[in-house]
Amino acid sequence: MFSEQFDPTTLSTHSYTTAEIENVLKKKEFGPQDFPILISPEIRPFLEELAQRSHLLTQQRFGNTMQLFIPLYLSNLCFNKCTYCGFSIEHTYPRVTLTRDEILKEGEILYQKGFQHLLLLTGEAPKEVGVGYIAEAIRLLKPQFSSIGVEIQPMTESDYRILIKAGADSITLYQETYHPESYSQYHLSGKKKFFKNRLDAVDEAGKAGFYRLNLGALLGLYEWRFEALALAQHLSYLQTHYWKTKYSVSFPRIRDMIGTFQQAYPVTDTDIVQFICAFRLAFPDVGITLSTRESAEIRDRIVKLGITSMSAESHTEPGGYSGKEAEKQFEISDTRSLEEVKNMLIHQGFEPVMKDWEAPCHI
Ligand code: SF4
Repeated sequence: MFSEQFDPTTLSTHSYTTAEIENVLKKKEFGPQDFPILISPEIRPFLEELAQRSHLLTQQRFGNTMQLFIPLYLSNLCFNKCTYCGFSIEHTYPRVTLTRDEILKEGEILYQKGFQHLLLLTGEAPKEVGVGYIAEAIRLLKPQFSSIGVEIQPMTESDYRILIKAGADSITLYQETYHPESYSQYHLSGKKKFFKNRLDAVDEAGKAGFYRLNLGALLGLYEWRFEALALAQHLSYLQTHYWKTKYSVSFPRIRDMIGTFQQAYPVTDTDIVQFICAFRLAFPDVGITLSTRESAEIRDRIVKLGITSMSAESHTEPGGYSGKEAEKQFEISDTRSLEEVKNMLIHQGFEPVMKDWEAPCHI
């Protein structure tokens, strides 16, 4: 398990000399060992050079394609108390969990729009929205969609295998923050308050054999460079232990939600650019996802740097595509339609891809 070897006290950025920066920039290729210097403050004056190399490397490895997906929230029921989230249990509003018919209705709307890659999301409510409910939702939607991912409560290997058998091919599981003390401050009650439990769930997902694993940190909860170093270490570990799995990373910045949460560690646009470039250059084959949490303006500006998949036209409330009244997890920032996002991508030289993968029959 990664939790057995993870030591956050070793993850501090140290200073690099000018000679060290110059030497690393002479390299034709980078690897995970270069990640700390690529994320360092000292290399920031060379960010333009890193951005150009990151763009070229992305073109070489992924071509000019951009895979588009959409989140589908199944439920906003959650028994955890996470201070930054609109679904947190302390918010008192009627909770909504989609019925079979409502799931099919949402799926039909998204299918008609042309989406083929779905990401199903729920809060953490193991009895009401447990493995059986999620597996059923996957089975209902699978006939219309080529790829179904899940972003749900941590589960065991055997439960994950049930979801894979139902038709899920990818899982998104963010640690939120890799800094244990900060994690305790934001996750006050419910099962999510156990830092190690969440970290171990990624290993469970790796053992279960998902085709793709999407890792991440929610930026704004702790220092972004620390989160970057921890995420890179976690990714390296997983690539070694579950080498058949494909990986992607994302690092969304916290958005407004109901309540009064204030970002403790603001992350600038330039920080995000360095984050993307460092991951692209040190992990050339890893996908990088950019969600509608970011504004249209910033998405348009950074899309060429290393991004390989984007969401579009997202709703963060269950039933949001069919006009059902329900509370959102957070406000999205890029509110453009799928067609508008596609046009932006084409204008920037990308081919928007609605389907780039389909599970073979035996999964
Ligand atoms: S972040 Fe996840 S677990 Fe926490 S309150 Fe929100 S939905 Fe629930």
